[in-house]
Amino acid sequence: NLRLSSRFAEVGFSEIVRIRNRVMALKAAGETVHQFEGGEPFFETPEPIKEAMRRALADNKTRYAPSSGIPPLIEAIVDKLRTKNKLPAEPSHVIVGVGGMQGLYGAFNALLDPGDEVLLLSPYWTPTRDLIHMTGGRAICVETARILAEGVATTLAARLTPRTRAILVNTPNNPTGQVLTRANLEAIADFARRHDLVVVSDEAYEDLVYDGEHVSIGSLPEMYARTISVYTLSKSYGMTGWRIGYAVAPEPFITGIKTSVLYSTNGVSTPTQWAALAALRDVPESFLAECRAAYRQRRDRLMAGLAALGLPVKPTPDGAFYVFPDVSTLGGTSADIALRLLNEARVATVPGTAFGCAGEGHLRLSYSLSLDAIERGLEALERYLKRG
Ligand code: PLP
Repeated sequence: NLRLSSRFAEVGFSEIVRIRNRVMALKAAGETVHQFEGGEPFFETPEPIKEAMRRALADNKTRYAPSSGIPPLIEAIVDKLRTKNKLPAEPSHVIVGVGGMQGLYGAFNALLDPGDEVLLLSPYWTPTRDLIHMTGGRAICVETARILAEGVATTLAARLTPRTRAILVNTPNNPTGQVLTRANLEAIADFARRHDLVVVSDEAYEDLVYDGEHVSIGSLPEMYARTISVYTLSKSYGMTGWRIGYAVAPEPFITGIKTSVLYSTNGVSTPTQWAALAALRDVPESFLAECRAAYRQRRDRLMAGLAALGLPVKPTPDGAFYVFPDVSTLGGTSADIALRLLNEARVATVPGTAFGCAGEGHLRLSYSLSLDAIERGLEALERYLKRG
């Protein structure tokens, strides 16, 4: 009996975490590493959020709160979901959780019976696959590379079985940066309605769209009833370490997600929730617009630099803060390439295989860096590639 639950049999240890650990070890040894492997905003948490945290502590807002979230925060989230995401959200449909991660965990926990299948359009953010397996389901990798309205139903249909329960949709996408257009989402929604599937919509990067618009799939006709939408403050407000996000879903799912949160963390730390309220209420929309402008500039700089090195990124990613170039011309698997770049050029990236069945041949690079860091990283890459 001294064994791990079989639920962990298919659960990997995030390759991204493994790379981050290696980068940290190199840095601790005094090495300079060009860090394109990250997944965090380059800016610090805005002052009104920090001030709200200090105020919450001074006011002793340090006790247990309702495990679903403090009422004023729930109210602010409902306002935001109604106005920005066009979702007919009710306060009872909202749960505050420890980052987007707990929202996704709760969603799969609420949804899946042992052996139930979730279609994952690849490339995808790998923890999603692991969360599905940890909650007893099976992640089914659907190779798409780029999702297009015309072909997506056929691609999804090929992997449909009687056990299929849900589709995971992630827009803007990590790692490709693809932003799903309304037409693309309508095609997926149509498929979900026709086959009676639930959609788990990961909208972690909703505020980082540079061209086009962010559309929440739950806002499309008749979709709210079959959608669990997951959000986080991590990327929009530079709050990755605060660990706060939220999910919205109608019954019966929301009860399952709330119970999952209750019996894992019993809610998010109370002062952090007051700080999150300040993020939604006191940080102006202009702040998000300034961040978008800064990201766009970084994206364009990195894309131009990569193109000059013979690694064009096509088509231009419209959102999130990643590029996912095809590096197959460099020889070897993407894991080999990433390892060589780290060991020989001190350029840290994530191999495409970390993002499911369609990732091989690519590397993920984040441009959530200072312009100067992007410049120096590109120089290191150039020295390595031109070394012959
Ligand atoms: N979803 C995607 C696609 C992500 O990239 C991340 C973070 O990297 C998350 C969800 C979860 O973020 P967090 O748990 O920090 O809110």
